[in-house]
Amino acid sequence: MLFDLTKEQQQLRDTAREFADKILKPNAQGYDEREEYPRENIEKLADLGFLGIIIPEEFGGGGHRAVALAIALEEINRGCASTGVTISVHNSLLANPLLYFGTPEQRQRYLPRLASGEWLGAYAISEPNHGSDAAAIETACRKKGDRYYVTGRKAWITNGSKAHVYIVFATLDAALGAKGICAFIVERTFSGFSVGKKEKKLGIRASDTVELIFEEMEVPAENLLSASGEGFKVAMHTLDGGRIGIATQAIGIAQACLDESKKFAAERKRFGKPLYKSQAFGHRIADMALEIEAARMLTLRAALLKDQEKPHTAEASMAKLYASEAANRAAREAIAIHGGAGARRSQVVERLFRDAKITEIYEGTSEIQRLVIARHALQDRLQ
Ligand SMILES: Cc1cc2nc3c(=O)[nH]c(=O)nc-3n(C[C@H](O)[C@H](O)[C@H](O)COP(=O)(O)OP(=O)(O)OC[C@H]3O[C@@H](n4cnc5c(N)ncnc54)[C@H](O)[C@@H]3O)c2cc1C
Repeated sequence: MLFDLTKEQQQLRDTAREFADKILKPNAQGYDEREEYPRENIEKLADLGFLGIIIPEEFGGGGHRAVALAIALEEINRGCASTGVTISVHNSLLANPLLYFGTPEQRQRYLPRLASGEWLGAYAISEPNHGSDAAAIETACRKKGDRYYVTGRKAWITNGSKAHVYIVFATLDAALGAKGICAFIVERTFSGFSVGKKEKKLGIRASDTVELIFEEMEVPAENLLSASGEGFKVAMHTLDGGRIGIATQAIGIAQACLDESKKFAAERKRFGKPLYKSQAFGHRIADMALEIEAARMLTLRAALLKDQEKPHTAEASMAKLYASEAANRAAREAIAIHGGAGARRSQVVERLFRDAKITEIYEGTSEIQRLVIARHALQDRLQ
């Protein structure tokens, strides 16, 4: 399978690459150290059109698809993974399901604001007691007249305190499992909505991660996304796209590990010669380069299938699983190559090591990706 980029995709990649080198990379350490939401990065990326990459031009977006998004996200994540996840969630977990499941009215209300970056998006399914077993969520909804009332708590919500619009999942009746779940488009101004505690995290420290609290939150019935009881399908379809986004994040982090290792090895002399001339170093770099390329191929393949509107659930899980584990191996190697300096808080690789770990957790842990892949690989036996 060949990936010859179109002229537009090349332009998008070049713009993202230049922005990552000039703006994101130099500021990433500072934002991480201060655990500060990178507002300026997001505003500048909005001006460059990256908040509306996949939104059709009729709504003010760039009109690109999943392959283009993947290419752009890799570059952004190479510069700053906290900025990368903010953009990934907005595009993959909010704009994407609105495009796929939204009514014409819902698309008209939300997509132009999301495309311009006037509004930021978030996706809320995880709860304090339910992450991997998403069908068991407890946040409850009930319909009365032309409104739904939603009560419960969501945990670990990326962009949670900065977003203006959210996709929130709640159950009509927990006993119904996946069949009882509804998806709602929630605006932060809805009565009964509030933001809870902010998480202090191991990695992607500059991204915004909070709890959300709903107390009899009033949601107009027209803000139901897809049919009543069809929310779990919305959640899983959306995560297929989101996992491609996290795979690109992992590739960006792994590429940054490789770049930093090469830079360090050119400057560092050991036993009378630069580190990069030692064969052991070369082998380490070879493994990193190989795994990055393999992760990129898996990820672009999943994105291409998505663009072709073909099934891509297992492919997205493979991409996410492989890329996130490759990023963690690359980060461990990068720390090792840096020797003692790798443990220094001000070192870029120290941040990359912490950021890489998160890619194995969110949008489905590695164990959950393996379950998805196994279900796909065994489908002829399981029928
Ligand atoms: C930084 C960050 C940002 C996040 N952003 C969002 C967000 O924007 N929106 C959102 O909804 N959620 C978000 N999450 C939540 C994230 O998706 C969950 O943390 C993740 O899905 C795991 O769920 P859990 O934490 O409840 O762990 P659990 O589900 O309790 O899992 C604990 C352990 O058990 C393992 N496990 C669980 N089930 C099985 C099984 N059947 N077989 C084998 N092993 C299993 C898991 O792999 C894990 O190792 C975020 C999390 C983090 C850390």
